[in-house]
Amino acid sequence: MKIADILNKKKTLSFEVFPPKRNTDIGNLYEVIKDLDSLNPDFMSVTYGALGTTTDNSAMIAKFIKNNTTCEPLAHITGIASTKSDITNLCNELKAAHIENVLTLRGDNPDNQTNIVSDFKHASDLALFIRQQFGNDFSCAGACYPEKHPEAVSFETDIDNLKKKQEAGMQFFTTQLFFDNNVFYRFLIKARKAGITVPIIPGIMPVTNYKQIDRIIQVSSAHIPIQLQNYFDKYRNDKQALEEIGIIFTSYQILDLLTNDIDGLHIYSMNKSHFIKKLMDNISYVTTGYFANK
Ligand code: FAD
Repeated sequence: MKIADILNKKKTLSFEVFPPKRNTDIGNLYEVIKDLDSLNPDFMSVTYGALGTTTDNSAMIAKFIKNNTTCEPLAHITGIASTKSDITNLCNELKAAHIENVLTLRGDNPDNQTNIVSDFKHASDLALFIRQQFGNDFSCAGACYPEKHPEAVSFETDIDNLKKKQEAGMQFFTTQLFFDNNVFYRFLIKARKAGITVPIIPGIMPVTNYKQIDRIIQVSSAHIPIQLQNYFDKYRNDKQALEEIGIIFTSYQILDLLTNDIDGLHIYSMNKSHFIKKLMDNISYVTTGYFANK
């Protein structure tokens, strides 16, 4: 089923997983996916290694979700190192597996490689191409950035570009992670004012260890509220305390988002299903009601 159609009927709950670096860990990931499925999500998204590393496994994992869970897979696809023929082949593979949902992204070139061949400058070009080639076979979604994409010259330009993504046919957006809900609410108001009408789903990442913090700031430039930073600093070497803080902080963050009537909730699981289960268990009464009617 198309996620856009599910979003027409209800608020969605979803999780992101990523392909493990080592092929030998795929079995563990399948257990994680089954665990996450027991939380009754509407869809699970699978990231895609833009520069070739984990691309094959992404499609395989999306197929596993399709065939072994009760939710829909959302396969991420990046345009940055892809030709039209690469994308056509990948989409044909997904279509043959009855996968109907793709998250169309540009991707990044972290090492500034110069020998990359790419037919797609922006995510919107990728979504347009998929629509031209495959019509309504796929529902395309896209990424958005409550704290602005790092390359955008201004917040306004970034929102104008988000509008181009909607015009290219993206039917909903998932946000980059954030820790301060006010950042998301301000972004939502601006996006709606600019004419972005499709659902915008906040993406939340519960932090469970100190090492993640630097990495998060590096890849997302997410603002960390001072209160959370203080917790992280005080308990930086205490794994159990940080897990407890992660669960409590994220529980409040989710409760606040649900109170403000968000279109859906996407959780970056970091493949840690035991932790996500503890988190969801903490707020199970409220979330079960909010995401009912699957
Ligand atoms: P774009 O939409 O192309 O935007 C990139 C920049 O170009 C922005 O500054 C934007 O304002 C500007 N822009 C956009 N469209 C236009 C246009 N038409 N004309 C002019 N300027 C334009 N990366 C991966 O490699 N694999 C993944 O699986 C993955 N999953 C992600 C999931 C989510 C929810 C998010 C938020 C990010 C994900 N990323 C992933 C990271 C993403 O690839 C990077 O953030 C990348 O830098 C931008 O991708 P994009 O699709 O937003 O690009």
